[in-house]
Amino acid sequence: MRTTLIIGAGGVGRVVVHKCAMNSDVFGNIVLASRTIGRCETIQSELPNANIVIKTVDADKTQELISLINEVNADIVINVALPYQDLSIMDACIATKTPYLDTANYEHPDEAKFEYKLQWERDEKFKEAGIMGLLGSGFDPGVTNVFCAYAQKHYFDTIETIDILDCNDGDHGYAFATNFNPEINLREVSAKGRYWEEGEWIQTEPMEIKKVWDYPEVGEKDSYLLYHEEMESLVKHIKGLKRIRFFMTFGESYLTHMKCLENVGMLGIEEVEHKGQKIVPMEFLKTLLPDPASLGERTKGKTNIGIVAEGYKDGKKKKIYIYQVSDHEKCYAEVKSQAVSYTTGVPAMIGAKLMLEGKWQGQGVFNMEEFDPDVFMDELSKQGLPFKVETIAR
Ligand code: NDP
Repeated sequence: MRTTLIIGAGGVGRVVVHKCAMNSDVFGNIVLASRTIGRCETIQSELPNANIVIKTVDADKTQELISLINEVNADIVINVALPYQDLSIMDACIATKTPYLDTANYEHPDEAKFEYKLQWERDEKFKEAGIMGLLGSGFDPGVTNVFCAYAQKHYFDTIETIDILDCNDGDHGYAFATNFNPEINLREVSAKGRYWEEGEWIQTEPMEIKKVWDYPEVGEKDSYLLYHEEMESLVKHIKGLKRIRFFMTFGESYLTHMKCLENVGMLGIEEVEHKGQKIVPMEFLKTLLPDPASLGERTKGKTNIGIVAEGYKDGKKKKIYIYQVSDHEKCYAEVKSQAVSYTTGVPAMIGAKLMLEGKWQGQGVFNMEEFDPDVFMDELSKQGLPFKVETIAR
């Protein structure tokens, strides 16, 4: 029987474990390993019939990971720890010749910058080991990449522009909290914006560009241009693309809190001295903020994430919108996690399922849009993330 090793017992890890357990014919034995065993125990106790084995691991340490992968004889590693651990886990997969999947691209803890460079550089080593690495199999990146590949395959001869639109209209009742890991989330949204046009990256100030978008089942929302990692791979793989942008919704209260925290230095990632101890402000802030995994129970409302693609089919201009709406309360009722974790964990499970079934296969390191989107889209509908495709009148 197969063994699936899931690393990271946070909000996303919980969803992946639940969903793999629901597809146990594919995933076989499930091993959940993370830094804090208590979190693994909680998830294990939610699935008493699933026979989940739990382990502790420090995923920053490649050697420790190699021992764990060998000990459990893993057929695949699903990395849903933090982006800081991507490289150490990839290296352990290379050493043990074990297929690898993650949901977010590598970030160095001391530098608020993310790019695929260091992960793509491991392509040769993955090839030599004869294994596949699937990068960014969450929602965005992840499903948004697959939406682009699906639009390209079925709706266009050439796509000229893509806008990725990410709306979370969830309300958890707190004045300020983040829906996934606070450090990763706040680093992403406080960074300068960037989009790609005519072969060049154009930088903007944080939150400089705003667009109001009418999200189906949610309504009109202020959406701000951010840099987001899937654009780096999409500009390589969607031929003929002239512009790609990414927008995310933020409410007034969130932005005011964030600005204030930034102004007083709480978003800093450099160490500061406090009463003879060194602390990193952003890490301290994470300690104060509600644990994202605890928000599930309180969150109401919906998410709507999708892409608007515009281009040509048979010589005619065309514009389509592909999107997915999830309801926080329904997600919680199913797997005890809110929709942000749900919409990340389900695609992680689907990516791993397609790899194990051999429907997506290859040797080397890949992004999601490089594979046939149809099999992934079929799974989305079956596994709890139905999507819609609408033609937009021009
Ligand atoms: P959480 O902070 O809730 O969970 C992260 C988990 O990883 C925690 O259980 C944590 O352990 C564990 N962990 C951290 N460091 C280590 C380590 N050194 N060794 C072992 N375990 C470790 O994050 P989320 O679940 O919200 O996010 C998980 C991943 O999903 C992140 O990479 C995030 O960027 C990504 N993501 C991707 C999205 C997408 O759409 N593509 C959207 C949202 C998230 P401990 O409990 O001890 O802290």
